[in-house]
Amino acid sequence: MAKEVRTRFAPSPTGYMHIGNLRTALYEYLIARSNGGKFILRIEDTDRERYVEGATDIIFKTLEQTGISYDEGPGVGGDYGPYIQSERMGMYKQYAEQLVEMGKAYYCFCTKERLESIKGDVATQGDSLAYDRHCRDLSPEEVKANLDAGLPYVIRQKMPLDGTTTFTDAVYGDITVENKTLEDQILLKADGMPTYNFANVIDDHLMAITHVVRGNEYLSSTPKYNLLYEAFGWEIPTYVHCAPVMKDQHSKLSKRNGDASFGDLLDKGFLAEAVVNYIALLGWSPGGEQEIYTLKELEENFNIEGLSKSPSIFDPEKLRWMNSEYIRALSPEKFAEVAAPWIKKALGEDVSEEMICKMSTLVQGRTEVLSDIPEKIGFFKELSSYDKELYRHKKMKTDPENSSEFLKITREFIENYNGEWVSSELYQGLCDLAASNELKNGQILWPLRTALSGLPASPGGATELAEILGKEETLKRIDIGLEILA
Ligand code: GLU
Repeated sequence: MAKEVRTRFAPSPTGYMHIGNLRTALYEYLIARSNGGKFILRIEDTDRERYVEGATDIIFKTLEQTGISYDEGPGVGGDYGPYIQSERMGMYKQYAEQLVEMGKAYYCFCTKERLESIKGDVATQGDSLAYDRHCRDLSPEEVKANLDAGLPYVIRQKMPLDGTTTFTDAVYGDITVENKTLEDQILLKADGMPTYNFANVIDDHLMAITHVVRGNEYLSSTPKYNLLYEAFGWEIPTYVHCAPVMKDQHSKLSKRNGDASFGDLLDKGFLAEAVVNYIALLGWSPGGEQEIYTLKELEENFNIEGLSKSPSIFDPEKLRWMNSEYIRALSPEKFAEVAAPWIKKALGEDVSEEMICKMSTLVQGRTEVLSDIPEKIGFFKELSSYDKELYRHKKMKTDPENSSEFLKITREFIENYNGEWVSSELYQGLCDLAASNELKNGQILWPLRTALSGLPASPGGATELAEILGKEETLKRIDIGLEILA
């Protein structure tokens, strides 16, 4: 029987969810789901200096909002817990000591001062190694004497000094490095706690992880991880390194650019589903023309072979387009629900359910991102001052002069109007009015639309706006228009 595929997302809580990290989580999830395997969440919170209050909650919330559900992890449990690294701290020391016994690691007693003092030497030698392997060959007696004397120590990995290490990455293929370029990195710190590089390997093994997906900034550390797996005689997972998400050809997408954080994108009015769809295709190609994929479809179609080696550029315009497709596909009820906070932003918290419904009907087909809504509908609340040139429209054959005439006719009609105050009835009435005055429909409707919105373009035509504004406000805005045109 084939081994169960187990993938993990191992974020460090940094305070926000970078789009690149979310994409990693998504790919891990999709590898698990497309293989009928398990997806695990492990919080790597051992770096207490970088700890940010509330950051773990952001991780939980993001996964919930995106539908990236995990089978094992904090709050869910599982056979391989705990899933929060800071709760696993007692587990690592024995593995580091085991490596020392096997001759694959060693005690290092170098003081901070000594390490500081060699920094310059290393730099002048043009050596890429930060540590000069000073304690690597201490005799067993020296080590014992130092330990007995209670000297502080770290445990370092003993890299082979010659030969090469090769590993295979599912995206980048075979990668070989010269062992002498590998630093004798610290595995266990002076306080007995593991470094990130060590804990990560131990946990991946203990949690029976079969596929490790991470950013390609980890490619250069992977040989070191490999040597650890080999030393322990553990099975090496499939490595899947992903090319970065870039802002442009030269710089990575960073939070400072404004688009890198998932939370910021939601705040800007993007839908979580659209973001997930967009980032799935940012570095993975399903082949073929289809671009809109639900999470379910991604689960069915994902394959590691489609991952790209080259960096992908985050295109905000493309995301806007995709978001507008998702917005259009929402049911009117669902759209009203997601649009409501944005409608309230424009019209006030006390706006009625009926008004929310009307507004969302008006803007659903015209919205790319929810944050477009307030400026599209703000005029319902308050008419801004505008220039009479707004009444000029070549196709409608209107200009500031004749519009004044047309508006007057319209005003009289509306004042005496006794029919039902709904767009369709008003529209019919105004078309009849145009006909009886030998005017084009546009000559009546365009000036009215302009007077009601004060904008060169508005969601909805003249009578749709009138229905929402009501008779009294409609007449008031016509009067303002007449004044502007006078
Ligand atoms: N905690 C690491 C990070 O957030 C995880 C890297 C990995 O997946 O191994 O970058």
